Amino acid sequence: MKENACQESAYDVALRQYDAVADKLDIDPGIREMLRHPRFAVEVAFPVKMDDGTVKVFKGYRVIHNTARGPGKGGIRYHPDVTFEEVKALSMWMTWKCAVVGLPFGGAKGGVTCNPLEMSQGEIERLTRRFTTEISDVIGPATDIPGPDVFTNPQVMAWMMDTYSTQKGRFVPGIVTGKPIPLGGSLGRAQATARGLVICIREAAKELGLPLNSLRIAVQGYGNVGSNVVSILNGYGCKIVGVTDVMGGVFCEAGLDPAAMTTQLRETGSVEGTPGTDSLSNAELIELDCDVLVPAAIENQITKANAGKVKARMIAEGANGPTTPEADEILSDKGVMVIPDVLANAGGVTVSYFEWVQNLMNFYWTEEEVAERLERIMTDSFASVLGTAKEKGTNLRAAAYNLAILRVAEAMKLRGVCR
Ligand code: GLU
Repeated sequence: MKENACQESAYDVALRQYDAVADKLDIDPGIREMLRHPRFAVEVAFPVKMDDGTVKVFKGYRVIHNTARGPGKGGIRYHPDVTFEEVKALSMWMTWKCAVVGLPFGGAKGGVTCNPLEMSQGEIERLTRRFTTEISDVIGPATDIPGPDVFTNPQVMAWMMDTYSTQKGRFVPGIVTGKPIPLGGSLGRAQATARGLVICIREAAKELGLPLNSLRIAVQGYGNVGSNVVSILNGYGCKIVGVTDVMGGVFCEAGLDPAAMTTQLRETGSVEGTPGTDSLSNAELIELDCDVLVPAAIENQITKANAGKVKARMIAEGANGPTTPEADEILSDKGVMVIPDVLANAGGVTVSYFEWVQNLMNFYWTEEEVAERLERIMTDSFASVLGTAKEKGTNLRAAAYNLAILRVAEAMKLRGVCR
């Protein structure tokens, strides 16, 4: 889905987003500068025996951007495009995300440059175990807690937990979140990012005066976030008009059927070709006539090249970093409400926090308790961001950054950092 190979790195984008807001805030210059850099970063290379008997060397990263408000928190991504610069950006975004929704965590992220779609389960397991061992001095339930991200899932989290626990000689469920339920995973974690996103869409629709059940939705990406968003919104009566994935896409004016798309994806590896639909390209999806556009894939999808052609009234960022700063400006000028990633997709890390808390207490909540707590955090956070945007006359991203940077800077100041 990369549009242009010479675009600036995700970290340059993250820095520009940070600088634009930090410049206007009254924060200590030392703290302001420190927040431009990861606190700690590690790059590892490690061998994995492949099924054909050869040994392949993979590169992996773990970056802790900030720990002023608590241990580092953030997912592990397996993707061919993973780079150190990307992981640095994603770790910084995690710092803001945790602060926006008030979680007692800092920000971190990890990744391995690999293509899990072309690897067997055995190869992915060996890669996961070796990577976990390589970073086992960095991660820890009180220092840095990984979770799932693009192309990692509960099984990968289970292997990480098992590898770490085996090394320590005891059961350490709080080392990662997003685990399967029988291993200390939280009820509601799988749907959490999508649920949080839908709560934001609901609140934003109220603000724009759009009835929820009348919304026409376009979704880019049909992984954990995209597919759950589609099924929840379809249940609310919204019309899902377009969906794309890495291989292709589908359009149906009368509304797509989530069950049919899921069957098609399972049988062919893509939603493309779902019976009763027309095919849709990624470029067409971004420009589709709809009310809500949900980018739920990877970075740099809405750029200055296509932002002017967006017809949606609202963009809810399921992915991290899908909109470039130039596109943001164009969208703001057009009056498109962009619910930024650090708020829109924070439901995932919020339930990861609940999972970690349950692991530490060894006492588990019902799905209703999880959903209720998530609902409260997301609606309150949406209201604070919207309130700040109105008060400062900015868009929602600048408002979310404003809140987050001040919270992190305050924690650093109280701890006596940079004095
Ligand atoms: N990968 C998710 C995110 O970007 C969740 C991370 C986690 O649960 O630690 O927010």
